Amino acid sequence: MNSKTADPLDGRIVAMALGDMATRFSIEVIESCASTSSVLLDRAMPDQPSGSVVVCEQQTAGRGRRGRSWLSAPGDSLTFSLLWRFPSGMLPPAGLSLAAGVAAARALEGMGAAGVRLKWPNDILAEGAKLGGILVETVSHGGRHIAVIGIGINVRLPKEIADAVDVEAGALASVMPYEPSRNFLLANLLKALADMLDEFGRTGFAGFVEAWLARNAHAGQRVSILAEDADPIEGRCAGVDSDGALLLDTATGMRRIVSGEVSLRPR
Ligand code: ATP
Repeated sequence: MNSKTADPLDGRIVAMALGDMATRFSIEVIESCASTSSVLLDRAMPDQPSGSVVVCEQQTAGRGRRGRSWLSAPGDSLTFSLLWRFPSGMLPPAGLSLAAGVAAARALEGMGAAGVRLKWPNDILAEGAKLGGILVETVSHGGRHIAVIGIGINVRLPKEIADAVDVEAGALASVMPYEPSRNFLLANLLKALADMLDEFGRTGFAGFVEAWLARNAHAGQRVSILAEDADPIEGRCAGVDSDGALLLDTATGMRRIVSGEVSLRPR
């Protein structure tokens, strides 16, 4: 279904749904762009206030990790990015993409979505299918770390996207008791992200470990860690560390896997 006319993105509705929190964001709705994160990253950093949001109806070159693509469809997807400045003196925000996953899961659960799970390091799943992806990119400027958090959600899943991706894709609407409005979904995600970012500034990812583990899609399961230039590493998913590294229980002992260049696959 293309619900472009039924559920158009509208910054005023998002601001209304944000209520008191609307003052923390400046929301720009654009019809088409290559990538909402690229729009924010391309702008002059000193001029871009914390809380800048770009949400786009048609993202033509959405990015995942390692140059992979994030596919979306006008009307059926929500694709947006949020720029956030951390307080000066703070260490690089390790584990931020996992904490963003916790924030996204809390927002979706708050709207009634069932069975939301997180796949290390950056996927949002439900019923074993990937319904959202998160890409966190960081830069520093004037001694402060700036994060651009990009999120793509399949609100509904058109067949052309399901067929085009190499994973089992899912849709938010199929795990909710009602058809979600993208404007309210965006407002709820932004509220949850702002709450998360405030807390992250105080605790880092350590404050989110428990919440992440409670939603770990592969808790205790046998998994393989795939890297492009190395043999797979096999082990049991034993959780995550306080910096977001995956803890893998292998035949040779516990190993810490840092996200950058690897993918987790169930065995
Ligand atoms: P993994 O950790 O599972 O290897 P990744 O983290 O490298 O994935 P992402 O950055 O999350 O990948 O996103 C890109 C990947 O997501 C694509 O390679 C494709 O498999 C999948 N994908 C792209 N668009 C969608 C979509 N709309 N819904 C579900 N999956 C998608």
